[in-house]
Amino acid sequence: AARLCSGAGGEAEAAGGDGTMLRHLARKLRASGPVTVAEYMREALTNPGQGYYTRRGGVGESGDFITSPEISQVFGELIGIWYVSEWMAMGKPNTFQLVELGPGRGTLTDDILRVFKQLASVLSKCDVSVHLVEVSPKLSEIQAVMLTGGKVQPNPEDESAYMKGISKTGIPIFWYRDIQDVPPGYSFYLAHEFFDALPIHKFQRTEKGWREVLVDIDPEVPDQLRFVLSPSRTPATQNFIQPEETRDHVEVCPEAGVIVQRLASRIEKDGGAALVADYGHDGTKTDTFRGFRNHKLHNVLSAPGTADLTADVDFSYLRKMAQGRTATLGPIKQREFLKNMGIDLRLQMLLQNSGDTATREQLLHSYDMLMNPEKMGDCFNFFALLPHHRLVHPEKKDKPESKSPLPPVAGFNELLLK
Ligand code: SAH
Repeated sequence: AARLCSGAGGEAEAAGGDGTMLRHLARKLRASGPVTVAEYMREALTNPGQGYYTRRGGVGESGDFITSPEISQVFGELIGIWYVSEWMAMGKPNTFQLVELGPGRGTLTDDILRVFKQLASVLSKCDVSVHLVEVSPKLSEIQAVMLTGGKVQPNPEDESAYMKGISKTGIPIFWYRDIQDVPPGYSFYLAHEFFDALPIHKFQRTEKGWREVLVDIDPEVPDQLRFVLSPSRTPATQNFIQPEETRDHVEVCPEAGVIVQRLASRIEKDGGAALVADYGHDGTKTDTFRGFRNHKLHNVLSAPGTADLTADVDFSYLRKMAQGRTATLGPIKQREFLKNMGIDLRLQMLLQNSGDTATREQLLHSYDMLMNPEKMGDCFNFFALLPHHRLVHPEKKDKPESKSPLPPVAGFNELLLK
């Protein structure tokens, strides 16, 4: 099953793993007291030695959770078409960088590059390069095999990248640990199930005002973690809770905010667009922090480092953090986005071209996973950052009648490829 979208992971599952991360955290908590949920999540997921993503990052059927690109090639193909359609709508610039944040197994970029190859006649005069932002050495190895057949050069001296290679389709690919290392330039950004993996702060409204939820060691049970509330306000309660907030429990992901600010500044300055797809809400949900292990909900405090930890993305916060530097579109439900992108037509074509029943059944099953409102269709959303001039003509006071209408943005509207 995919990481479906509701219900916090309260259901405890038997703890596992070798307990190294738990012992490390327990020592730290005993020595210096409780930590924020964000600190806990960062340690559990991306600690350089023992973090979940650092060591394994179990995306895929044999891992802990499965994602849309791993379910169906059609997903990545339609996203590839989105980029080509935006590239055309923006006047076919002669170069662009495709920048993916958190590429997992590399499947999504692989599917996108296949589309770019199929549309080689359209893109022939465009110089395309791929830039992957990935902290996990384990996953970057898997990506390298998927995208280049393993032919990569580690630590190239002349670049800010930690690895580089050439894709199977002949496109240069670079790896970085941070978006800030990616060279400036006209770029199309992609973040699929990336923001949900970034550390969140959690807050609870109490009679005495807002308190931050912290992670502490349980004094009754050795090496067991528990949630506690901060005894007073913390810097985070002061900075991240809006005065007009009406919810009693709030999750905020400042790292996501910083990254969106960077994306928006880069798009404002150098042009391009960003497509963000994730499960999330528009500033309405409360407790969404949950863990996944072996495709099942997993207690977030049990056996840290052995399970994926995740929280719904708050799109209203991302919109706010774009700070008007770009326009934003969405969030729009995955099933609407994919329908607008022509998934039904693509499914029909694949069904017609496949002779055997097993393949046809597989195609229908994966379509249902992506589109069914009870599965991934409703809770996954698409959200975009675009330069203002992509949606509204820049003021041309002298000759307003000469403006031709701007082409609609595919996915958020029906796809029209001209
Ligand atoms: N986009 C992929 C994988 C999602 S899992 C898919 O949809 O299948 C999250 C990905 O983000 C993993 O590749 C993980 O290693 C990476 N990641 C997590 N935190 C990160 C961070 N702070 N910086 C860069 N990459 C990160």
